[in-house]
Amino acid sequence: MSLEERARRERILARQRGAADACRRCQIGSERRNNVFGEGDPCARLMCVGEGPGETEDLLGRPFVGRAGQLLEKMLAAIDMAREDVYICNTVKCRPTQPGLRGPKNRAPDAQEMANCRSFLDEQIDLIRPTVILALGAPAAKSFLGKDFLITKQRGRWYEGPLGIALMVTFHPAYVLRQTGGELTAAKRLVWDDLKAVRDKLAEPSPAPAAPPVEQPALFGDEGPIGS
Ligand code: URA
Repeated sequence: MSLEERARRERILARQRGAADACRRCQIGSERRNNVFGEGDPCARLMCVGEGPGETEDLLGRPFVGRAGQLLEKMLAAIDMAREDVYICNTVKCRPTQPGLRGPKNRAPDAQEMANCRSFLDEQIDLIRPTVILALGAPAAKSFLGKDFLITKQRGRWYEGPLGIALMVTFHPAYVLRQTGGELTAAKRLVWDDLKAVRDKLAEPSPAPAAPPVEQPALFGDEGPIGS
């Protein structure tokens, strides 16, 4: 990708980030500390989409920077990718919370919040046009594939995502972190299978770019179509 194209995408993403910053379509827009728009390579071939920012992300304004983020980085490293190589974002850009005994607790975004935020995600996908979208966890998967998606049964397959982009669903790193013993081993194995499928898809030769238009022989003389 040319430097100019990279700079163009960065400019557009900065503009979109500003619009998301100003957005108050949901209550959580007024409650959050920072908008967590997304970050990474604007020309990435892999886009990771999580459900929504947690406490650390809200504090820092960056996606996947807490414990789940550390595991996501390990998952990416397993397929020889660095965090900087991919674009990372969420279905919602503000932290969804619910009251807890020791202050607000994270919760999954609801359908209305995801719908309100969808235009930002769509703009990110449309601009970056990754080869693969990796949906992390059930809420992200449902945002692409509908509310009946069952992650335990339907992850690990290829789906057609927005704009026809190849979409893979795997378990959310936070879910993996909550498992113990045999469940942890099993979850890690399944995530590894999904990551290998992503790695293989990214290794496929990219489709040939559209052929340049064939030059038409001049049909008319120098004087143009409305000649003498
Ligand atoms: N979980 C998510 O889904 N997204 C983040 O950015 C962090 C944790």
